[in-house]
Amino acid sequence: MRDLSRLPKAHLHLHFTGSMRLRTLAELARGYGIRLPATLLDADPLHVPADERGWFRFQRLYDAARACVRSEADMRRIVAEAVADDAAEGSGRLEIQVDPTSYAPFVGGITPALEIVLDEARAASAREGVSVGVVVAASRMRHPLEARTLARLAARHAGDAPGQVVGFGLSNDERRGETEEFGPAFAIARRAGLASVPHGGELLGPAHVQDVVAHLRPDRLGHGVRSAEDPRLLDAIVADEVALEVCPASNVSLGVYRDAAQVPLRTLVDAGARVALGADDPLLFHARLIAQYAIARDEHGFDDRELADLARSSIRASRASDDVRRRLLAGVDSWLAEPARAGDGSAPDA
Ligand SMILES: [Zn+2]
Repeated sequence: MRDLSRLPKAHLHLHFTGSMRLRTLAELARGYGIRLPATLLDADPLHVPADERGWFRFQRLYDAARACVRSEADMRRIVAEAVADDAAEGSGRLEIQVDPTSYAPFVGGITPALEIVLDEARAASAREGVSVGVVVAASRMRHPLEARTLARLAARHAGDAPGQVVGFGLSNDERRGETEEFGPAFAIARRAGLASVPHGGELLGPAHVQDVVAHLRPDRLGHGVRSAEDPRLLDAIVADEVALEVCPASNVSLGVYRDAAQVPLRTLVDAGARVALGADDPLLFHARLIAQYAIARDEHGFDDRELADLARSSIRASRASDDVRRRLLAGVDSWLAEPARAGDGSAPDA
């Protein structure tokens, strides 16, 4: 069994606030004299039902964490630590997702809020050796015109160099908002060369995925796991080369599946889908990137060759520059060429 922390991979589904270390959140809260809900700081991962009340509980905790981020220094710290943690897990490419709206009041607007994230992403890329791109995400809970404003801001910073914007997303409760109304924002992003990376197919099933595909023309779907419920839809997604950012631990925490073994990872991979495993919100789910690969290994029986394929898939689904992709893919080959540790039942070349 090879060491998963040495397997080069790309991390394409990680939210800015949700990436925070628990200790960092506790320190920020203490510094601002904010009392956090006890469930946010305890050792247990969140576990809620996949209904509106469950989402509300998740959102309430998320908002409480977000309320502790109140300065440029806080924002820089979150990016820096997310990149350092990714580096420790063998990620060579991180595409971190942020909605600058929430932090704008503390730093003078959405433009400086985004620029702080981009600047720190650039600095952290150089420091940690992880290429970091940024996804600007609009929220389904807000007016679609705000999404357009964010898309225009994202477009001004588009590029594949570290610290540039690579994609445009749409997050929050899938059951809220009219997907179609966000189409114009995504058109602005697409014209600027940004990847379309909306959430979809997590809390809602195939009909909603179809809606997202039709109106937002995704290059990647945030989650998309529920596509597995409709083989024809899944085939279409595979044919269109829409990648799926699958976050198994998140799915269990938010009650989408009963346990990690129920996440249809095999179904998606067997159908030929391009899957990129992601952590989503490790602050709440208490599982970072390697934990997702460990789930594939332990719960779904992926051997090292298949885990390497998952890593390749994540790298190919990323918006990293060709140089970075080539380097990471070569690293995956090297990982697989290393002898596996004896006694684990897998041959060196298996
Ligand atoms: Zn997400």
